[in-house]
Amino acid sequence: MTRHLLFRVSLMATLALTSAFLTTGQVKPGRAPNQPIDEEYTKKIGEYTTEKFFNSPLTDYLPKSPTVPTPKAVLGDVAGAPGKLPYAEDVYRYMRMLERATPRVKVYSIGTTEEGREMIAVAVASERLLARLDENRARLAQLADPRIIKLDDDAADKLVANSFPIYYLTGTIHSPETGSPTALMELAYRLAVDESSYIKTIRDNVVTLITPVVEVDGRNRMVDVYNWHLAHPNENWPSLVYWGHYVAHDNNRDAIGLSLKLTRNVLNTFVGWKAQVLHDLHESVPYLYDNTIGDGPYNAWVDPILTDEWQMIGWNNVSELTKFGMPGVFAHGNFDTWSPGYLMFIAATHNGISRLYETFGNAGADTVERTLDPDEYSRTWFRQNPPLPKARWSQRNNNNYQQTAILTSLHYFSNNSKLFLKNFYLKSKRSIEKPKNEGPAAYVFPADDPRSANQADLLRTLQAQGCEIHRATAPFTVTLRKKKEAGAQAKPSPSPAKPQPSPSPGKDLEERQFPAGSYIVRMDQPYSRIADALLDHQYWAPNDPQQDVYDDTGWTMGELANVQVVRVTDVKALSAPMDRVTGEVKSAGGISGNGPIYVINHNADNTLISFRYRLKDVPMEVAEEPFEAGGQKFNRGSLIIRKAATVAVQQVANELGLKVQALDAAPNVKSHAIKVPRIALMHTWLSTQDEGWWRLALDQLQVPFSYISTQDVAADSNLESKYDVIVFAPVGRGTNAIISGMPMWGNALPWKTTSLTPNLGKIDSTDDMRPGLGWSGLINLQKFVRNGGLFIGVMDTADLAVSAGFTPGLAIARSQRLKAIGVVLKSKVVDATSPIAYGYDDSLSIYCFNGPIFNVSHIAGGRGGRPRREQRVTGRGTPDDPDTPQGRPPAEIPERPTAEVWEAIPLTDEQRRNGIYVIPPSMRPRVIFRYADNRELFVSGLLDGGDEIAQHPMVVDVPSGSGHYVLFSNNPMWRGRTKGSYFLVFNAILNFDSLNTGRKLDEK
Ligand SMILES: [Zn+2]
Repeated sequence: MTRHLLFRVSLMATLALTSAFLTTGQVKPGRAPNQPIDEEYTKKIGEYTTEKFFNSPLTDYLPKSPTVPTPKAVLGDVAGAPGKLPYAEDVYRYMRMLERATPRVKVYSIGTTEEGREMIAVAVASERLLARLDENRARLAQLADPRIIKLDDDAADKLVANSFPIYYLTGTIHSPETGSPTALMELAYRLAVDESSYIKTIRDNVVTLITPVVEVDGRNRMVDVYNWHLAHPNENWPSLVYWGHYVAHDNNRDAIGLSLKLTRNVLNTFVGWKAQVLHDLHESVPYLYDNTIGDGPYNAWVDPILTDEWQMIGWNNVSELTKFGMPGVFAHGNFDTWSPGYLMFIAATHNGISRLYETFGNAGADTVERTLDPDEYSRTWFRQNPPLPKARWSQRNNNNYQQTAILTSLHYFSNNSKLFLKNFYLKSKRSIEKPKNEGPAAYVFPADDPRSANQADLLRTLQAQGCEIHRATAPFTVTLRKKKEAGAQAKPSPSPAKPQPSPSPGKDLEERQFPAGSYIVRMDQPYSRIADALLDHQYWAPNDPQQDVYDDTGWTMGELANVQVVRVTDVKALSAPMDRVTGEVKSAGGISGNGPIYVINHNADNTLISFRYRLKDVPMEVAEEPFEAGGQKFNRGSLIIRKAATVAVQQVANELGLKVQALDAAPNVKSHAIKVPRIALMHTWLSTQDEGWWRLALDQLQVPFSYISTQDVAADSNLESKYDVIVFAPVGRGTNAIISGMPMWGNALPWKTTSLTPNLGKIDSTDDMRPGLGWSGLINLQKFVRNGGLFIGVMDTADLAVSAGFTPGLAIARSQRLKAIGVVLKSKVVDATSPIAYGYDDSLSIYCFNGPIFNVSHIAGGRGGRPRREQRVTGRGTPDDPDTPQGRPPAEIPERPTAEVWEAIPLTDEQRRNGIYVIPPSMRPRVIFRYADNRELFVSGLLDGGDEIAQHPMVVDVPSGSGHYVLFSNNPMWRGRTKGSYFLVFNAILNFDSLNTGRKLDEK
């Protein structure tokens, strides 16, 4: 995590003091007097540590073993040595050397990355503990799921007495944060070899489980870049434009959608081992910020037992390192603990303890002088011994801090292992008791949801989170609170919906029946908290004391998936007839009916585009109007297939969970053909993070695309011969940077595969990352569109098209007070006949991050926007009266044209007199979706000043020559959790050559 720091005083200080009663044991930290030390290694530690006070009695020596190799065996030097940054494979080689050399280490393969590299977990403990892992896991499984012991506290106490906990450490998820692998190598050695009572206490009481490299693909690329830097000592080095295969820093925002393999591998390891702690290591803050405690607002769905544990462990950590005399160790800071998207939060939402360190790294292994900002070295209430304003800093210093803090945590955890195991049981038990306490009782996914494939996809994500899914075997009825009126969001109801012993319907209540086949996520299960956190709505008060919001504030998954999810507090839901779903939830697909013609209803189920591309040789059409056939209603955009091999349709529809209706004759409805458009996804060399989520979405849905850079576009004046659609996902750097790229002074920055950098290139490569899109790129894009291509721009890449003058009549207003911070908002369909709206209802929830705010106009260069309110002049009469000049009859005042916020103001005769700038009707921006009215705009998260964006256009189609620019103010493809809005993009792609369908032209 890298964010500038802005510390605030918090009431949490008083809370924190309550942890002091816990003992930390009387064992003195430091070497065992009778165990020899590795003299050479110890000397090097001292040499690479830049100040004595940047080390501790726990790490200022290395014990010697006659049989177990030190990290030097692989690194050729000590952990944290300057110039030494091992690849993941080197780290694994060392861990496996340890495994062979001592019975106190075991290495497990936990899966692979997107690029096929291995991920591992290393268990370190006494041989006694490691020999009992399986029986211990069987006990932990009962604490993790107390239903097995019928929630019997006495039985739990016996299990706790006989069990030992698992403390899971994860390193270098963020690739430029490079220190953890060597720190964790040396830590594993110490835990296995050191005979001091301090370390023995840890080894005998807790299993330390270590994934030394989480982002393996990114680690190896980072090592390449560092090696390039070593080989070119006086040059600038390429920035790490790719970390993982898809995303960079956002790999630590995936614990909601579980789109990345690293998230799933760590989740499966944490849940599979029944671990108690997940402790993730980061580097961005001097010198050690234990952000476990962080700052408010806290996530509203975690157990308060957990938030107390954060305080206990965090403050013990600060206290112990302070006693060692190490400066710059603190808890609290600017990290709000709201979003459950962080990797460590897997523990928080699965009844464990989430932890995170920010230590201080140099993004590599150089030793350099580091100068801090005043807000980094100032003394605050929670940082009484702050970092030094200026210090020489080494990777070894970082490794000292990391290991010392982890060891004190492990020691504290070992001394209190029974307490934390009991808490683990209590949190699990309280999760199961959720329906009768805070509620809800269940979430219901109705069987008649028109988007069964998207529904199944969301349920599979919940299954991947470890949640149990049930399915109703008969219809059932529950009592629900009536839907609030729109606009009621700002007024919290005086009494929140309490768990109900099935009350009779009254004024605020109503009955609802769900059909058989509806899915039920019961809240009386051990992992109810993650389901509740993901499916519930979020409310971040605009006046919250936390004004420095760390990340997205809203993520309500049903809303963003365009899937119906009903929160049910009525505990009667739990006694509905139902079966547990075994295996993955699947949407039923296949052909029904008979006949040679196939039709598929368009409900914006994402697999519909997979269907199109999977059967790429089959001619397909889409209906331009709704129709009825075979006794069913079909939406606009429904697929019509006149000729196809039944076997192929059947097989693909089955696999994708799509229902196909066979008919004797084609429906009598206007239609147009849809091709298999050739898609290019364009990226910059500045940042690939946000487009990575788009790439991932297309790959997941098996939609083929060419991956090109702005430099390719700059060099290609015939783009239309290769592509039909160019998608330019958000960059996050703005128009100037996209065009200019990086400054051209200094040396070239290559990103390509060489023997020095074997892991660079591959995804894409260039001899020099610096050049941007340039003017030639703009000209080529403009020509591409004029000749019939479709350009899709989003947020800042929409701004690029507008700023370049490609979209006359579309303008962007700068916001003054809008605060839409990763929020879920409601949209409305403006033009349902546009292919972009196919399959959508009128109230789609979307993800928005501060706009941009679009306005449309009929005048080229016009700013559009709200018609100005005419204010009457000083004169006679009431405020609504016209003024009346004296001595002549009153003149008739012609009515001025008005329009809705999302519309262009109709032209006046004056404007048309010499219409140089008047846009011809067929070239005017066509608004397809807009933001909802202010009173119903907010869905989930933080929205302030929403009136600034309410009703404004959200998705706009601007014709140009024979092509189109389709521009988005929302981000329809974000972090694998906006799957309900993916089809806005897919519709545009599939209909790239028919986007004028349904278009009504203004008369003048
Ligand atoms: Zn980080």
